[in-house]
Amino acid sequence: MAGFTVAKELRGRGFAGAVTIIDPAGVPYDRPPLSKDYLLGTRDQAGIQLAAGDWFKDQDITIITGTAVALEPDVGTVVLEDGREITGDRVVLATGGTARRLPIPGGDLESVLELRTREDADRLRAMLKPGARLAIIGAGLIGAEVASSALPFGADVVLIDPQDPPLIPAVGHELANRLHAMHPERGVDVVTGAPVAITADDGGTHHIEMVSGETIAADAVLVGIGIIPETRLAESAGLETDNGTIVDESQRTAHPKVYAVGDSSRIRRADGTLLRRAEHWEHAMNTGATAAAALLGQELPRHGASWFWSDRHGVHVEGVGSMAGEGTVIVREKDGEPSVVFRLDPEGFLAGAAAVDGGFAVRAARRIIDRRIPVDPAQLADPMVDLRKLAR
Ligand SMILES: Cc1cc2nc3c(=O)[nH]c(=O)nc-3n(C[C@H](O)[C@H](O)[C@H](O)COP(=O)(O)OP(=O)(O)OC[C@H]3O[C@@H](n4cnc5c(N)ncnc54)[C@H](O)[C@@H]3O)c2cc1C
Repeated sequence: MAGFTVAKELRGRGFAGAVTIIDPAGVPYDRPPLSKDYLLGTRDQAGIQLAAGDWFKDQDITIITGTAVALEPDVGTVVLEDGREITGDRVVLATGGTARRLPIPGGDLESVLELRTREDADRLRAMLKPGARLAIIGAGLIGAEVASSALPFGADVVLIDPQDPPLIPAVGHELANRLHAMHPERGVDVVTGAPVAITADDGGTHHIEMVSGETIAADAVLVGIGIIPETRLAESAGLETDNGTIVDESQRTAHPKVYAVGDSSRIRRADGTLLRRAEHWEHAMNTGATAAAALLGQELPRHGASWFWSDRHGVHVEGVGSMAGEGTVIVREKDGEPSVVFRLDPEGFLAGAAAVDGGFAVRAARRIIDRRIPVDPAQLADPMVDLRKLAR
């Protein structure tokens, strides 16, 4: 998403020079559907491409199917696995991340699944059959989405996480509880605890040994415990990395020819503050747009507070800003359940919000955060108060 956005924005902003995208998958595709409609089979390969093949031709953007293994920043040369060398006046690293493996015996078994690529989704879907038992380790965003998507296949799903509920930093305690409670209500078997080892027997059944001594048997095991930013190219170029390739607010690394965007990048502000690395779709798009503007010496676009969404069990979750940190939490209820949760920072300004089926509320909250509009906690909590009015 981030690399594609750089290319698209460069053309949109009038750049007429050569643009080359290098990726082992060739034409770039969107990842969020991999745990949602692509996994369900309601969207196909063509449906998840970020643009059709013709679009790249029309835009005169070259796609090279391959993996870069080294970067020589002074000359702008990228060396590919097959020995090819591509040289550019500028190089943008948009390498995303790789799935974190479980650091336990058996965590590195080839048969233990992850979900980052289309091939991963195809492999997972092939396992989803009526009565097949799928164990998902990690009940964060992706684990929960897969649990939900696996149910229509008739699979028996067991969802394992040491936290109960998970996702508090993303959506706050109240919504995290509500969302986690949906799993057993929909027929997912939820296990709270830490796995300590995984083995696979000759029949292909996996056995997950838990710290409690319990063993969980499954036909397939998926691990969804986050990603590790892919920074090897940056490292090969001697660039600074710290859980991401370090860039300034224009997405430029310390080397004037090299930029980094998306999940693999981490911003250090001009005042030296190192921001948390974001791993969301919109952030990938925003950082791609910023890099394109910076590459062309144009004014940098302004982006609002960070935003993400997730879909599970028929509900749509959105979050904006940060729900983690000090301050006051305010809950807005609907039908006796928390529907929007807000965090006010210690100074009383809105710092984060999350909602279930509350896109309007989150959009309004984003405006309130971005403009530092003072808000009355009682009004935030009152479901009769239209948040859009508070955002004006
Ligand atoms: C299953 C799934 C569901 C998701 N759902 C949501 C969601 O609902 N909402 C949301 O906000 N976000 C979601 N995300 C996160 C979102 O997709 C990512 O934040 C976004 O894809 C990041 O874009 P990126 O371009 O930085 O990295 P990526 O999309 O990871 O792309 C990086 C690309 O770089 C390539 N690459 C890596 N190393 C090299 C190399 N050495 N040479 C050449 N190419 C290389 C990789 O093959 C990959 O194609 C989801 C992610 C996944 C995996």
